[in-house]
Amino acid sequence: MAEKERGFAPLVFRLHGGSPLAVREVLLERGWDEYDEDERDEGDWNLYWRSSGFRNSDYKNILPWQRLNHHLKMSHITRKDYLARHLRRMKSAFGAALYDFSPAGFILPNEYTKFLGVYTKNRTTDGGKSCYWICKPVHLSRGRGIFLFKDIKDLVYDSSVIIQRYISNPLLISGYKFDLRIYVCVKSFCPLVVYMHQEGLVRFATEKYTLASLDNLYSHLTNTSINKFGLGYAMDKERVGRGCKWTMSKFRSFLRKQEVNELLLWHRISNIITLTLLAAVPCIPSNPNCLELLGFDILIDSSYKPWLLEVNHSPALSLDCPADVAVKKGLINDIIDLMNYRMMDGFRQKEDLRKRCTRLQPKIPLLPKTSGKRSLNQSISSSSSSPDTVLCSVNDCARTNSRFASRPVHPSSKSTMSSGHAKAPQKNVEVESDDLKLTTLNSTRQSYRNTPSSMFKLPSLHMHKLKTPSVPWNRRTQDRDIPPRRVGDFILTFPFNEATWKASQDQVDVKAIVNEVRKLTDRLGSSFNEKKRRNADSSRSCNAVRDRSEFLLWGPKDPPLLSECYSSDSETK
Ligand code: ADP
Repeated sequence: MAEKERGFAPLVFRLHGGSPLAVREVLLERGWDEYDEDERDEGDWNLYWRSSGFRNSDYKNILPWQRLNHHLKMSHITRKDYLARHLRRMKSAFGAALYDFSPAGFILPNEYTKFLGVYTKNRTTDGGKSCYWICKPVHLSRGRGIFLFKDIKDLVYDSSVIIQRYISNPLLISGYKFDLRIYVCVKSFCPLVVYMHQEGLVRFATEKYTLASLDNLYSHLTNTSINKFGLGYAMDKERVGRGCKWTMSKFRSFLRKQEVNELLLWHRISNIITLTLLAAVPCIPSNPNCLELLGFDILIDSSYKPWLLEVNHSPALSLDCPADVAVKKGLINDIIDLMNYRMMDGFRQKEDLRKRCTRLQPKIPLLPKTSGKRSLNQSISSSSSSPDTVLCSVNDCARTNSRFASRPVHPSSKSTMSSGHAKAPQKNVEVESDDLKLTTLNSTRQSYRNTPSSMFKLPSLHMHKLKTPSVPWNRRTQDRDIPPRRVGDFILTFPFNEATWKASQDQVDVKAIVNEVRKLTDRLGSSFNEKKRRNADSSRSCNAVRDRSEFLLWGPKDPPLLSECYSSDSETK
């Protein structure tokens, strides 16, 4: 269809071989075109998606309307050995109490002697009864090459491996081990902007957990790539059901039924994510045209303590089962929304627009690391246009064409949408708009939803000012310099207050941020204790408090600001 007829120029995606089919499906549903190198110029695309990393030249040659789905040097946290080293460094700098979420690890062969020392000490103190180890090749994924052992004579390896203390007391559901796949999107490394997705996956082992048989991978590993071959996969397992996955929503309702303090658990997970990313932030050059989706694997032990097992680069986005379909299509849509495309980005081939865009685009190098303020301004400028130019977020108009109906509707969602596409808490969904006025995604989506694309009317234009407004952190209105608290089901987890926002500008001040994480944890801790006390006094009044704070990060309701949850309880004291 001609651009004129459509009313807007379609965005173009480019997929590298091996990229997930679901990404293509979602983008086509949103009305994007697929890049064809025989028909289009080299730079005539908006999104290049690869499962593997990009070449340095891809970053150097990037144009203002283009985005890449990876940042450079992500192996600092996604390679098991690098991650272990970074976390160890942070532990010695900031204390074991804060960085106690990763099982002790040793990289072999280099650290064999160190491992032997710890192993021997363990054997002598408790006869080695309670200590189990897991050995993982550092360069492999999907459970490949992993084995468990108790006795060092069973440790055999022929490549670089990491030996980790095996968390032998996992939380079980009906006797089955599971871990959580948490989807995290790093929108920017400088300033650090991190979103955690409310949906995610719970991945089960398919045979009951027992330490009596360490070589039964179907009992000890939770990788789908392994468990789908297990006999238990197709069985209707007690409580777990068939297959080996749950959605996070299902897990959350399970926790509520168990009367688990959900808020505290998610807060701890959110801390793990922030503290892990902080370990690598100084090594990763920030690029405003890139965004990274990471898969954090979290194991919860029987005392509800979450442990970080590893961080996955390019977490699987294949749709292998109903839980995948329910989670991943929505996730991909939300990632595209986070990429913050504007109508302007569709006009790649219009020479005059390109020139105007280039004029407005500050000439700054994308690499190496750009400063925080410049990054932000640059990302804004990359989509700038003159007042007579069509300009708005295309996320909404693209969705007009969307046919995706597979997204789950949360029972408590107040959505009035007639299509199957449901975003749970509508009223709080904000979109980064080039307009200075507040725009909520809810209102835009509602008005565009039933409008044929050819009739699509674009919002009026306002040239934005690139000035940093000084507004209180808690201000609920859309603000250019403060990232939206929520984009789709992505919840902003960093920065979480004004101090962390300031500390992550220009050059990320890791020390200051770690201090803020510490303070927040203490305040939330005392807030919880206070609530517990009140709980004993009056269960009725406490229910009101719980209703407001239980869903801080993950619930189906609008997540309240962290400060709203703890300030009245602990700050006034
Ligand atoms: P891979 O990259 O091969 O998936 P992981 O580190 O994620 O490697 O480990 C695979 C699985 O092994 C995890 O999903 C989890 O079930 C189990 N596992 C890994 N490390 C530990 C550990 N330290 N304690 C308990 N279980 C673990």
